[in-house]
Amino acid sequence: MSAIAIQRIGVVGAGQMGNGIAHVCALAGFDVLLHDIDPAKVDAALGLIERNLRRQAARGLIGEADVTKALAHVGKAADLADFKTVDFAIEAATEDEQVKRKIFKALCPHLKPEALVATNTSSISVTRLAATTDRPGKFIGMHFMNPVPVMKLVELIRGIATDEATFQAVRELTLKLGKTPTAAEDFPAFIVNRILLPMINEAVYTLYEGVGSVEAIDTAMRLGANHPMGPLQLADFIGLDTCLAVMQVLYDGLADSKYRPCPLLVKYVEAGWLGQKTGRGFYDYSGPAPVPTR
Ligand code: NAD
Repeated sequence: MSAIAIQRIGVVGAGQMGNGIAHVCALAGFDVLLHDIDPAKVDAALGLIERNLRRQAARGLIGEADVTKALAHVGKAADLADFKTVDFAIEAATEDEQVKRKIFKALCPHLKPEALVATNTSSISVTRLAATTDRPGKFIGMHFMNPVPVMKLVELIRGIATDEATFQAVRELTLKLGKTPTAAEDFPAFIVNRILLPMINEAVYTLYEGVGSVEAIDTAMRLGANHPMGPLQLADFIGLDTCLAVMQVLYDGLADSKYRPCPLLVKYVEAGWLGQKTGRGFYDYSGPAPVPTR
């Protein structure tokens, strides 16, 4: 049983989640290497991490010295070969099984034999992803929530082959990051998204069928169900491509028609309207305030 001491962490994928994961790891004093297939995403992520750390400091949540210290802990990895020194690699790339499989194939040969590996997938089978690696016992699902610096929960998902030592090491890491771990079994979309995404999909059906406008649906759920954000606003925040991918995994994995992705969600993704990250989804983000599009 390995009891690796995690100090150096590699993050693959520098999008919304990758930058947040790098942020919390660096703030907790871990050395972080950030990699993306698109180097511009890494530069953008580093800029965003700095802005978000400064915002936390301005709000008194952390000290000014913590900002400098955290920034000194994050570096760029131009190539996956740079991950040879990491104790723990977290994959946070696009929610697409083929993309993730390719990453693990390319990544594992560079890792130390004792290094642990996690996926931040929202829905894909951890057991199946683990099987594409050379170390299924050292592989786990570590599902952070968005935005990572703010959200307290991390779902930990054991694949069928995950060693107890791996689970305990990643549980301890989660606690050191100031997060609350919760264990979920390896079923499609685990706990949070198994419950949350069908609600979002239903909100898109509600829009599609003309039951309400974007504004009516979001206001109804904010004020009528006391949700902090309306479901369509939340969908834009998560990313409509990710929402669709999760629904597809639920639909395929559980073979139940109640998980059928709404055709309007499919159409938005086909149009490249992926939500906040592309400037348009159920809202248009090109102006000073988001404007509903339907
Ligand atoms: P994103 O689109 O913001 O970022 C994905 C990043 O992966 C992009 O920067 C892209 O360039 C990069 N990428 C794609 N292929 C790559 C490759 N081969 N090698 C390296 N990098 C590659 O998406 P995101 O919202 O950050 O989601 C990332 C993962 O986190 C997904 O698995 C998603 O399901 C999961 N997740 C998302 C949320 C959310 O609310 N968005 C919440 C929890 C988990």
